[in-house]
Order: sequence, then structure tokens, then C-alpha cells
Amino acid sequence: MTIQFDRIALIGIGLIGSSIAHDVKRLGIAKEVVISTRSADTLKRAEELGLGDRYLQSAAEAVKDADLVIVSVPVGASGSVAKEIAATLMPGAIVTDVGSTKASVIAQMQPHIPEGVHFIPGHPLAGTEKSGPDAGFAGLFEQRWCIFTPVTGTDPAALAKLRHFWEALGARVDEMDPQHHDKVLAIVSHLPHIIAYNIVGTADDLEAVTESEVIKYSASGFRDFTRLAASDPTMWRDVCLHNKDAILEMLSRFSEDLAYLQRAIRWGEGDKLFELFTRTRAIRRSIIQAGQDVDAPDFGRHHGQEPKKS
Ligand code: NAP
Repeated sequence: MTIQFDRIALIGIGLIGSSIAHDVKRLGIAKEVVISTRSADTLKRAEELGLGDRYLQSAAEAVKDADLVIVSVPVGASGSVAKEIAATLMPGAIVTDVGSTKASVIAQMQPHIPEGVHFIPGHPLAGTEKSGPDAGFAGLFEQRWCIFTPVTGTDPAALAKLRHFWEALGARVDEMDPQHHDKVLAIVSHLPHIIAYNIVGTADDLEAVTESEVIKYSASGFRDFTRLAASDPTMWRDVCLHNKDAILEMLSRFSEDLAYLQRAIRWGEGDKLFELFTRTRAIRRSIIQAGQDVDAPDFGRHHGQEPKKS
């Protein structure tokens, strides 16, 4: 692999930041990787894991002379990070992020980005329910989409350079309008997480069964929701607060459809239930055909297998 950047600064080194670090190191994409995170504990852990070449608590120091800066913090913190690094960004540098919502991140970050620095918002559609620097692994982005939501007037050469970077990590890159991204993600990611949080919360409220039967018989469906509902609370609080409109719109559609289902069950309308369940089964098949999941039983879980580390 050829070197693409002289110095990459990774601001935030949780699941996503550390997965990028593993890949950058494994593939030799940068001459130097500088890591920054706000807490001394996480920074120390990143160093113990050997994720970079230099480790600094100050994000402003870390971005100095970096030709690529990747901000991987909860979306609600994007604005304060952009403000902190603004004065020390190198002219010509590319600044990108990985946040799960895009319109809000652009609104928070763009005003701080100085003239001559290329700001390209991005979102890799890859992750797990784990967080922190230990959760990252090489290859997380392989065969996954990375969506850019470029702002008006983005330099095509900078865009091509960032596209090349994500493609080197194995991702497929697409471009979208930020509002459209937020709508699409509300349905494919945000709503399923909210539903999972809700179902698991409901089960937890039914205290009589929680301790025993819910856990014991979880493999019959509940377990797959618990994985989503174990996702990072800070990240998902921020996603809900920063994609409010699209999520509320999807939730109201969801409630209407749920009422339809409720009615069909109440009135014994088996044909309606059968038609819906047949349609949804076909969607699962399309996802497998598109290579976004495998058709293995047990939802493709690889029991006892460790993800590869760089
Ligand atoms: P994570 O594992 O929880 O790591 C978060 C990182 O951000 C840590 O370095 C943490 O620093 C730092 N951080 C937390 N709060 C901060 C604040 N208020 N100000 C500055 N830094 C802060 O999170 P992640 O899963 O990597 O997610 C990072 C971003 O990726 C989020 O925007 C998320 O929406 C997006 N994303 C996540 C996934 C996923 O599946 N997890 C997938 C795609 C995109 P300390 O530990 O030092 O406090």
C-alpha cells in the first residue's frame, strides 16, 4: 500500500477511531499517526494498544501539520472539537468526521473551519455495540459503505483523496445530500436502535419475568434486540438529539404501521399479516444479495472468534 498522507491526526479514539488506527497502521497509509482524546485514561489505553506514533491530550496540538484530521467523537461534541482545532489546522488539510448524523455535524463544525482547509463530512456505516479503544479492529470497514455529504464548493481533488483513503480501508464510498443522509439513516439505523432500546426497556420493566425467563429464553428473538440495545448510551443520546426531525417523522410512520398490525392481529386478518411477513422476508434476501450480511443461521454470528487486530 502506498503512503497517502504524511500525518494523520485521529481526534477521538473509541471504536471507530481505533478501528481506523488499526487499518492505517496495517496498510501503511500514513508516515505518522497522532492520536488525541480528551481523557488521560483513554489516551493511555490507546498508547498501550500501540494505535499511533504520538499521543496528545490536546486536540489543537495533535492536528498541527496533519494533512488529514479525522474527528471520531459523539456528534454532540463535534462543534466544540472543531472550535478547539480551528486555529492550528494546516492550510490544505482535509478535515473529516465519522458522525452518525450529518446536517447537525455540518452546522456545528463548518463555521469553525478556516479558509483553505477542506471540510468533508463523512459517515462509515460500520460498527458494533462496543465502545472505547479496545473495541476497534482492523477490517471493520471492509465491504461497508462510507457516505460523504460534501458541502457546496468542496474541492474535487480533496474529495478524491478522501475517497481513495476510505477505499483503501475496504469501504465503498457514496455521496449524498446531508438531509437525505439523515432521513435514510433514521430508517435503517436510528429507528431500529430506538425500537430495540424500547423493547428491552419494556421487558426490563416487566420485573416478574426479567430475572428468569427473558434471559433464559432470549434466543427466541429478544437476544437480537439486546445487542442493539447495548450500544453506547452517549452516542445514541446524541444521535436522537441531533437527528430529531427525521427520527420523529419515522417514529410516527412506525406507530401508524404498528397500529395497522395491531388491528390485523385483533381482527384475525391473517392474509394481511401473511402479505406483510412475505414482503419483509424478501427485504432480508435483498440485503444478503447486496453483501450486507451473510445467510448463515443465527444471524451470521461467529461464536468464539476474535476480530483481527493489526
Ligand atoms: P466511542 O467508542 O464511545 O469513543 C468516543 C470517543 O470520543 C472517545 O475518544 C471519547 O474520549 C471521545 N469523546 C466522548 N465524548 C466527548 C466529548 N464530549 N468531547 C470530546 N471527545 C469526546 O465512540 P464511537 O463508537 O467510536 O463513535 C464515534 C463517532 O462515530 C460518533 O459520532 C458515532 O455517531 C459515529 N459512529 C459510530 C458507529 C458505531 O457503531 N459505534 C458507527 C458509525 C459511526 P474519552 O474516552 O477520552 O472520553
